[in-house]
Amino acid sequence: MAPRPIASQPEPSAAVARFFKRQPKLFIGGDWVEPKSNERISVVDPATGREIAQVADANAADVDRAVAAARAAFDKGPWAEMLPVDREALLWKLSDLIEKNLDELAEIESLNNGKTKFIAKIVDITEVRNYFRYMAGWATKIEGTTFQTSIHGPPGAKFHTYTAREPVGVVAQIIPWNFPLAMAAWKLGPALATGCTVVLKPAEQTPMTALRLADLIAEAGFPPGVVNILTGLGETTGAALVAHPGVDKVAFTGSTSVGKLINKSATDTLKRVSLELGGKSPVIVMPDADMSQVIGGAANAIFFNAGQVCCAGTRLFAHRKVFDQVVEGVSTAAQSIKLGPGLDPQTQMGPLVSREQQERVLGYIESGRREGAKVMTGGDAPASPGFYVKPTVLTSVRPDMKVVREEIFGPVLVAQRFEDLDDIAALANDTPFGLGASVWSKDISTVHRLVPKIRAGTVWVNCHNFVDPAMPFGGFKQSGFGREHGRAVIDLYTELKSVCIAV
Ligand code: ADP
Repeated sequence: MAPRPIASQPEPSAAVARFFKRQPKLFIGGDWVEPKSNERISVVDPATGREIAQVADANAADVDRAVAAARAAFDKGPWAEMLPVDREALLWKLSDLIEKNLDELAEIESLNNGKTKFIAKIVDITEVRNYFRYMAGWATKIEGTTFQTSIHGPPGAKFHTYTAREPVGVVAQIIPWNFPLAMAAWKLGPALATGCTVVLKPAEQTPMTALRLADLIAEAGFPPGVVNILTGLGETTGAALVAHPGVDKVAFTGSTSVGKLINKSATDTLKRVSLELGGKSPVIVMPDADMSQVIGGAANAIFFNAGQVCCAGTRLFAHRKVFDQVVEGVSTAAQSIKLGPGLDPQTQMGPLVSREQQERVLGYIESGRREGAKVMTGGDAPASPGFYVKPTVLTSVRPDMKVVREEIFGPVLVAQRFEDLDDIAALANDTPFGLGASVWSKDISTVHRLVPKIRAGTVWVNCHNFVDPAMPFGGFKQSGFGREHGRAVIDLYTELKSVCIAV
């Protein structure tokens, strides 16, 4: 079959082209301010490799200014005094502005990240809108408890005791490049619902939708300093934020290696830390599974967002009886995926986010080959200046291979056959990670016996990768700690205070 040529990227809309030409500024204290840093970061369209914008690389002085603005907004002023119902209204207003600008935000996301505009619109930006709406509701539902105590006070003493949840304070939020605006919403939503203030740093590769979001935050009418957005590199802006004594909590999503660094650095000031890190999630296919569901489901589990998903189903374990059928089905699905630039409506999978990521993923495929893996489909990059990698399926892999052990963060599936149903939990758990897993079976007993044995924060059954603002999300083991979404994330952004009153 002749290789399909990669189409060229259509021109952006006039509004987005204008937005990309903006001066590199930082959003601090409700205003767009000149950075003190003279360093700039080149932002690239991954489908063409060409620069589309320049942003600032905020330095320690910029971080100082942003933290001071967040501190001031937390300690005094309208935000500190605001009624929960008014925080709720602001979050709803922001969600309405997201809805109004959905198309433009999806276009910016697509051009900056590489994903298709179609997916950015129906998945990423729609989720952002819904996330702010869900979190708006929490602003008025934060509760404490009263309880009975048996305190031996002076004779006749009585006590009234209760708990209250209070916002944790100034939160530094550092996010990755795979779902840029959705990750910003996962972080900002609970912070704003609980009354915290924020300094948010998007990933250096994908800062553009966060900058547009800053406009919408100002338009919604959040008081100055409640949300500050700094562009910059991890080693400069990110590290300065994590070390800053004015920050009370760090919320991070990204690689396990950087998560470990952040956790160490935050120890010096005992900041609260929540980490959503890497994964190597298993997809377990039982012999009785419905093959019409499994093949599309397993393909989507690994190839959605070009595999740049922390809970992507990267390790396929299919029972001996169905292994060949599943691998053949997923490989055929992989071959049929149309690669191309995000603004082309024909495209089904965009490029990876950066040249560095493309080289990393191709390097992993090469290491798999060297160690004896068989490439069933894909295995290389199509001819293009963009950062594409063909959807790839590897078989004949062993548990000790790099491609099986390490997070690849690209469209690369490693498929393994298993024999004994009693072994499968141990095989699935043979990884330092524990973010997600999926089990595919029609047998309710098989499912319920296996789910408790899997060491992962989310176990999907007959589906994979679905998330919801109400469903806690986070990792076991080296996939991090703390749970985002639902009531769990409200706990993560609040301190619990006990009050004991002698009455
Ligand atoms: P990846 O390796 O996939 O790019 P990272 O974990 O490096 O993922 O990046 C996720 C986020 O962490 C980005 O916003 C990045 O700038 C930030 N980051 C990277 N290094 C550091 C660091 N030393 N301190 C704080 N933040 C960092």
